[in-house]
Amino acid sequence: MSHAALLTAPRRLELVTRPQPVAGPGEAVVRVAATAVCHTDLEIYTGRHPGVRLPRVMGHEATGVVEAVGPGVGRLRPGQRVILNPVIACGACDCCARGRGNLCRDGGLFGREMDGSLAEHVVLPERYLYPLPEHLSLPVATLIETLATVRHAQTRAGVGPGESVVVLGQGAAGLLHTQLAKRAGAGPVVAVSRSPAKLALARRMKADEVVDASRQDPVAAVREATGGRGADVVIDAAGVPSLLGPALEMLTPGGKLIVYGISHHRVPDFTTFPLYLKELTVYGSRALTPEDFGPAIELVASGVVDVEGFITGTYPLDRVAAAFEDYERAPGSILRLVIVSPA
Ligand SMILES: [Zn+2]
Ligand SMILES: [Zn+2]
Repeated sequence: MSHAALLTAPRRLELVTRPQPVAGPGEAVVRVAATAVCHTDLEIYTGRHPGVRLPRVMGHEATGVVEAVGPGVGRLRPGQRVILNPVIACGACDCCARGRGNLCRDGGLFGREMDGSLAEHVVLPERYLYPLPEHLSLPVATLIETLATVRHAQTRAGVGPGESVVVLGQGAAGLLHTQLAKRAGAGPVVAVSRSPAKLALARRMKADEVVDASRQDPVAAVREATGGRGADVVIDAAGVPSLLGPALEMLTPGGKLIVYGISHHRVPDFTTFPLYLKELTVYGSRALTPEDFGPAIELVASGVVDVEGFITGTYPLDRVAAAFEDYERAPGSILRLVIVSPA
């Protein structure tokens, strides 16, 4: 038998026992080692995420060890350490045919549209599992999924050398955006947050400038940091609707806005006029594609991207309810909580 954390109603998590999954043709059973909990999970947990049907096992940022493989599996073997790609796609619809499986009409996110990894075991087709190097810690390696989504967003907008980049919000994803923009040769990279602790981390991530939005006007600070020109790229990693107006204001003529942070809330006092006036480009970004995974693994495995200090707390699977209670109490001071299963 196998345990799983089932969300039966908003804020009600129950540990249930299910039959251990069996690997069908082309599939592998993974013993889950670690699942990082992110803002999407918090939205599902509190019932704020539209379109999620309960009961549901959450969890999409997960690593583990292959326990069994089904017939026809060639790339994986039992005992192999893996990270899972939670973006499930049908492979047959028009979006999948265009290589955009993250927009699949029949797919979804593991742990949201289908049961996920807050469980002892999961079963997935082989193509969703990526081997991890032996030296990576499995809890820390869960951050690779977030990095893949960050890479996806920056690749879409083509963040490149010499561009000035502002990253609004320095949670786990924001800090990764800051690092990846630096890695792409962008500069100056300006990290904006209301949290001194996160800004200290952003400095460690090599941000050229940090702006404490609780004390400084971020628009004025960005103007100053860019010699009055405004930023070439603004990445909204905060998902706060009221920041959209200031984000457009920060941009230089011809600039690019990446809407990375997810929000279901209406945007107050918003006009599209700056889009016209400065001929701005807005990029939506959804999850990741398989092409983002290999590079994301390599960036973390080689130490080029620093993910130390991202795990704020660790909880065993049978204390998952406490983890979500703690997360809901102080979402702004938590980067990632990780749920671990006994080895
Ligand atoms: Zn997530
Ligand atoms: Zn599809």
